[in-house]
Amino acid sequence: LYRIKDVPITKNLDTAWSKAVKIKAGHKCEVCGKRDGVLNSHHYVGRVNRTLRWSLKNGICLCYTHHVGGKESAHQDGDFIREWFKTNRPEDYEHTQYMKNTISKRTNADKRELLKELKAYIKENERIS
Ligand SMILES: [Zn+2]
Repeated sequence: LYRIKDVPITKNLDTAWSKAVKIKAGHKCEVCGKRDGVLNSHHYVGRVNRTLRWSLKNGICLCYTHHVGGKESAHQDGDFIREWFKTNRPEDYEHTQYMKNTISKRTNADKRELLKELKAYIKENERIS
């Protein structure tokens, strides 16, 4: 029963996180500034990491080229995106490095709280971005 209930909240969290990352970035690629075309919310530390999966500090809004398509992209060149992240968002880089080895077991109540926070962030910021 718990597992069945767990699926929608996780999906809702992923959706809200992705939207909030784009809003935070002003709906443009954080690397090149491109606004048109598809934008993706990239997890700096892979989303299998539950501690950082829904953290805005771990999200980078990228165009297709800088996400997966180009040679200099998050999925094709780990060094490239690491250097970019370290240089442009040093505090978030430090945070992710510090947090990635911590284990957090989130209860459904924790997840609901997190979803509330992300939704509040979206509501507060979507008009001004
Ligand atoms: Zn780009």
